[in-house]
Amino acid sequence: MSSAIVFFGPPGSGKGTQASRLAATLGIPQISTGDLLRNHVSRGSALGRVAKPIMESGALVPDDLVTKMLKERLAEPDAKNGAIFDGYPRTVAQARSLQALLEETGGRVDAVLFIDVPDTILVDRLLKRAVLEGRADDTRETIAERLRVYREKTAPLADLYRQSGALVTIDGNRAIETIASDVAAALQNARTAVPKGAA
Ligand code: ADP
Repeated sequence: MSSAIVFFGPPGSGKGTQASRLAATLGIPQISTGDLLRNHVSRGSALGRVAKPIMESGALVPDDLVTKMLKERLAEPDAKNGAIFDGYPRTVAQARSLQALLEETGGRVDAVLFIDVPDTILVDRLLKRAVLEGRADDTRETIAERLRVYREKTAPLADLYRQSGALVTIDGNRAIETIASDVAAALQNARTAVPKGAA
């Protein structure tokens, strides 16, 4: 794993959109733990059966289950040269696990792109997505819970990655293209500015 890029931000921030564009540009896979979990749910796997009610409530699937799933995904050949992480890590424990997984293969987190969007806009976007995609967890109640869980469990990662020097904050309340060009510029800088082993 030579290059790990993490997209991080609240639900509805557009991190998935940016992660998928960047994956296409760089030719490395986008690994979305939300998509992987939804896949388990639709296949009705053992993990999917555990995850389904948790996801529908807006809570987080337990760290050990998500990390095991991620580890299996990283073992696939397409992730050999790097991956773009979307929705993982979501807790401090997951950030530690990711670091340990990367260290096993001599990799590191190159950059953490924090896509920042105000809450009022997030709620609007998620309600629109509910109509377009019909995701089971895009109801008004679940959206509120996901935002609360994000503030409590995931937002603290910003400090962690700021300290390590990997964090780049990007204003996510702009056009997709504009954000994408900021992402590209941030990565140019990150490659040269983050010393090896710092993140
Ligand atoms: P969003 O970022 O829009 O909330 P995701 O597709 O990333 O959507 O995640 C949907 C749900 O899947 C989360 O609310 C959570 O229940 C579960 N999930 C996804 N990634 C993780 C993770 N890294 N750790 C724990 N739960 C996760």
